[in-house]
Amino acid sequence: MEQIVNQLKKAHHVLLASHENPDGDAVGSLIAMGLALEARGKRVTLHNISPIPAVYSFLPAVERIVQRLAENALFDTAVILDCGDLSRIGSTEAIVARTAAIINMDHHETNSDFGTLRWVDIEACATAEIVYRLIRRMNIAITREMATAIYTGILTDTGSFRFSNTNRAAFAICEEMVGFGVEPSKVAQHVFGAYSLGRIKLLNLALDSIEISNNGQLSFMTLTQKMLKETGTRLEDADGMINYARRIRDVKVAALIHEMNGSARIFPNYGRYHVSLRSDGDVNVAEIAACFGGGGHSNAAGFSLEASLPEIKAKIISLTEKMTQG
Ligand code: 5GP
Ligand code: MN
Repeated sequence: MEQIVNQLKKAHHVLLASHENPDGDAVGSLIAMGLALEARGKRVTLHNISPIPAVYSFLPAVERIVQRLAENALFDTAVILDCGDLSRIGSTEAIVARTAAIINMDHHETNSDFGTLRWVDIEACATAEIVYRLIRRMNIAITREMATAIYTGILTDTGSFRFSNTNRAAFAICEEMVGFGVEPSKVAQHVFGAYSLGRIKLLNLALDSIEISNNGQLSFMTLTQKMLKETGTRLEDADGMINYARRIRDVKVAALIHEMNGSARIFPNYGRYHVSLRSDGDVNVAEIAACFGGGGHSNAAGFSLEASLPEIKAKIISLTEKMTQG
């Protein structure tokens, strides 16, 4: 930790990046960390390879997050936030690889320990908690803008203080952030109360797609590109929908299978899919995701693969059965 503080103190131009298809923690941590380093007089570049979901457009300095970097861009320090693996930042990996100091700040159980300096704490409720601790450690005054970003990261990553990563720090830090001027009802209205009609229609299709395995312990939700097209929505609009599939009695694992854009259709039903997994706590879904080259937390994980839908479902069923027996 001391080494990270020292590196940031002597840094001149810092690249800050978080994982593609960012969630509230990835966006919030990025903004809070960027604003904090800027307050310390650093030149900062905030970056994410994906567009920022519309629900986070209310966050301060969100317009400062750039989607593209010049191929020859050069930084002395890179701070990688909320990424279990460096590949999660997408093609920017090449730029980061030639940066002298790479700081890995994350809370994923499956973190691959990349980087030259690491602050990986799997007990942290969100990467925003780690960012908060670093800001405090560096004695940087927390502004309302930073506080809003930190609060949003913790609120969203804990599922509004309901998931198993909800710890004392989640409440303590958020309480403190409210003291810095964050208005919880306003944040909640932006994040959970400003959906497009298309998103609600997509939810309807998603709920209708739910299937349960024979033993009732696994639920599948399937989202296709056709559904997104029909409702005029994007992948970001599916955020959180998997939780409906997990709320069914006796279900231990819920899987959301999402057909990715530009899927190759070599065979019928064959395509490129991203799978999100959620567990009720009995099954470690990070282990299931790792079997497919993905990762995450024991209760929330994901992976991508090319296969047919029936194949994917059969594989997840057999892995889950193995884990619930053992
Ligand atoms: P989600 O299902 O919301 O996409 O992701 C749930 C958790 O799993 C997140 O913590 C995320 O970082 C992780 N995750 C999702 N997809 C992948 C993936 O393809 N690779 C890895 N390593 N982690 C993933
Ligand atoms: Mn996170």
